[in-house]
Amino acid sequence: SPIPDYLAEALRSVEADQSGATADYIPELANADPDRLAVAFCTEDGRRYSQGDCDASFSIQSISKPFVYALALADRGFDEVLDKVGVEPSGDAFNEMSLEPITGRPLNPMINAGSITAHTLAGPRGAAPHDRFDRIVDGLSAFAGRRLEMDEAVFESEIRTAYRNRALANMLRANDIIDEDPLVAVTGYTRQCSLAVTVDDLALMAATLANRGVNPVTGAPVVPPAVVRQTLSVMATCGMYDAAGDWMTRVGIPAKSGVAGGLIGALPGQAGIATFSPRLDRHGNSVRGVELFRRFTSDMGMHLMDVP
Ligand code: GLN
Repeated sequence: SPIPDYLAEALRSVEADQSGATADYIPELANADPDRLAVAFCTEDGRRYSQGDCDASFSIQSISKPFVYALALADRGFDEVLDKVGVEPSGDAFNEMSLEPITGRPLNPMINAGSITAHTLAGPRGAAPHDRFDRIVDGLSAFAGRRLEMDEAVFESEIRTAYRNRALANMLRANDIIDEDPLVAVTGYTRQCSLAVTVDDLALMAATLANRGVNPVTGAPVVPPAVVRQTLSVMATCGMYDAAGDWMTRVGIPAKSGVAGGLIGALPGQAGIATFSPRLDRHGNSVRGVELFRRFTSDMGMHLMDVP
């Protein structure tokens, strides 16, 4: 297959770019080696390819958001979730207090306010926080096709200074969007963000979305097709935060970035793609990850608005 050579060449083409910076508000991420670079592809029939630092494990961070949103939709149904979290792009940064004026709902589930809310909606209503967390780990592991584990150091490092997310959760509680202790919600959400993954895990997670919610390697049905459509739509409109329009025009597939440097894209019916490179642009998206995806779109014609 020419794919491994193509991926290795793509990595070489972006290697020299050292622009951007690692996230500094989470000390453990600021200390991470910024030079690591990796890419993985997984096709909708389960063929997997990766190059670069593909054994490097890093925290999933905001890439957990679409998957936990999907679990919430599957567990509670659309009405209950949409009642609490909207689907409109905010045009703001990921950690902005972007709430609708009258309802107080977070604008979408890809920003922190919306994802803290979606976290509380995973699993059956009234589940204890540790049972809910187990449901989330089980669910994300089913997407990844292997058991995911938390990176405790990243969790400790983030929770200690999570003042901004605590403020968001307090605001959500004040607006009756979440109905539990805000600190419990932020703690669970932060644990969710600290699950450790590799690019191969992320590519398979994205490929499961690209394959109607069925994991193409294990064969397990993870979430129903209607949930996948909703999730991919929100990724397409909101996944790259205030760079979502630029991303959609230039790359053209549903995507999600994480502040540890991961980035996924899902091309429906075809493949899941993941990159890892820790230096971020001013929107909090991986610089070399965005470059790689732009390149994949121009080389392989991935853009969803192009006639195949
Ligand atoms: N855990 C991070 C936070 O809440 C996730 C942000 C991100 O990856 N963009 O700030």
